[in-house]
Amino acid sequence: MSDTTKSVQSQTPKSGQGKVYLVGAGPGDPGLITIRGREILEKAEVIIYDYLAGKKLLKFVPRDAEFIYAGKRGGVKHTHTQEEINAMLVDRARSGKRVVRLKGGDPFIFGRGGEELEEIVAAGLNYEAVPGVTSASAAATFAGVPITHRKFTASVAFITGHEDPTKKESSIAWDKISTGVGTLVFYMGIKNLPAITKNLMDNGRDPKTPVAVVRWASMPHQRSVVGTLDTIADIVKEQGIKPPALTIVGEVVTLRDTLNWYEKRPLFGKRIMITRTREQASELVARLEELGAECLEYATIAIQPPDSWNELDQALARLPQYNWLVFTSIHAIHAFFGRLFEKNLDARALNSCRIAAVGTVTADCLLDYGIKIDLLPEKFTGEGLAAALESQGLAGKKVLIPRALKAREVLPERLEKAGAEVTVAPVYQNVRPKGYGELLREEFVDQGVDMITFSSSSTVTNFIQMLGVDDNELGSLLSKTSIAAIGPITAKTVVDHGLHVDVQPETYTIPALVDSILEYDWKL
Ligand code: SAH
Repeated sequence: MSDTTKSVQSQTPKSGQGKVYLVGAGPGDPGLITIRGREILEKAEVIIYDYLAGKKLLKFVPRDAEFIYAGKRGGVKHTHTQEEINAMLVDRARSGKRVVRLKGGDPFIFGRGGEELEEIVAAGLNYEAVPGVTSASAAATFAGVPITHRKFTASVAFITGHEDPTKKESSIAWDKISTGVGTLVFYMGIKNLPAITKNLMDNGRDPKTPVAVVRWASMPHQRSVVGTLDTIADIVKEQGIKPPALTIVGEVVTLRDTLNWYEKRPLFGKRIMITRTREQASELVARLEELGAECLEYATIAIQPPDSWNELDQALARLPQYNWLVFTSIHAIHAFFGRLFEKNLDARALNSCRIAAVGTVTADCLLDYGIKIDLLPEKFTGEGLAAALESQGLAGKKVLIPRALKAREVLPERLEKAGAEVTVAPVYQNVRPKGYGELLREEFVDQGVDMITFSSSSTVTNFIQMLGVDDNELGSLLSKTSIAAIGPITAKTVVDHGLHVDVQPETYTIPALVDSILEYDWKL
């Protein structure tokens, strides 16, 4: 047993106390955390996270957890020293908390995970360690470079590039690794790249060995450049490649021409702003991201309960009298059942009504509540639904429509005309979220937005109000941004504000919108 092991095994963990979870976050794409890692995040009471540990993962952590940003970014002042971080881990775990230490990539690969755990063991606390996808592996996969390949190499080394390669007593055996290992991956080596490459060449590695440098691997804004040992340092400087980036040295880099799947995706490098309700954004975002786009999600509409539940409560009290219950949005379904359950009722209370849905999404949503619908229109619009109901014969029938406070009146009007007695019960309302203005404007000014998508007229008007600019400023702010509108009504609202619609699908669905974006001839 070594001295260090002896010294850290001073106390034995007790049950009933807190626990420290050292979790690898993976390289940045939130999809690359392990299932175990995510499970732990979902139960965290304290989370201490780093600069590189995917911010997007924080959404899995319960909101009432304590969030501590540990900082640590090369060259930038550290938010907390390593000692402070260790002390916080011990302190929070001692007070009985489930403490998650989330670290970029794999915690045991250039992540000081070992040092932090040694402290935990010394303090006699319970702990668990969860590995992560290390950035070398991600950079290789996402830049189309298999780090090993039978044709080229049987060995790979992960090396820190942080150490000053000119210092006399290097802990890196340059003479051995330069020619003794097939693929070399340098972490933290951008600043030292000229010295690293020189060292390798001085120690016998062929100057024509291919090299790839990958920045922000696995992220939508990933950038990579390729050169050879004798050119890469200049290329990186010219192209302005900054940390965090990895340098991959070896013949395997030549495979990139064939295997560079990630950066070849059709929307790679495009920043697209999505303005929808948060609840609805996921399908569009998932599709666009799979095609390579970076999606900026801004909810321009928030769903809130209605000011009063009166109409619905009265309708619920006489549910058996209704012949038809009609749903035109999933928000209405969730809100309706929410209220039903609050009243200690459930789907059985609807047994005397026939139920209609405006389209397949609403129909599927109802199925989740145990309801198979009785009527689905041919066309998934208010008009289509009106026509379908009319064909059932409406004279003297009672119809309940739980829906948004403000909505198009075409459906209730047509049903009434056909002889039905219609109750419209507001079960939710659309409101404009507050306080995003500056953040939104910065997106356009700082990094630029290639496209913005609007899925309804109210997303357009809310977005413009949220930006807090007049139509003139709006034009200049969006001068480099293409605009996609889901249908003609939305497009008209865009044009009314002096803007130009670049993408508009023929059918008003998300897949059609995505297809039109794919066909679009980009401005820049
Ligand atoms: N434990 C981490 C490494 C931390 S050291 C891991 O296993 O990946 C920090 C260095 O990792 C950075 O300087 C950079 O070289 C590299 N790195 C981390 N994330 C990266 C990413 N998404 N893209 C490129 N390099 C990354």
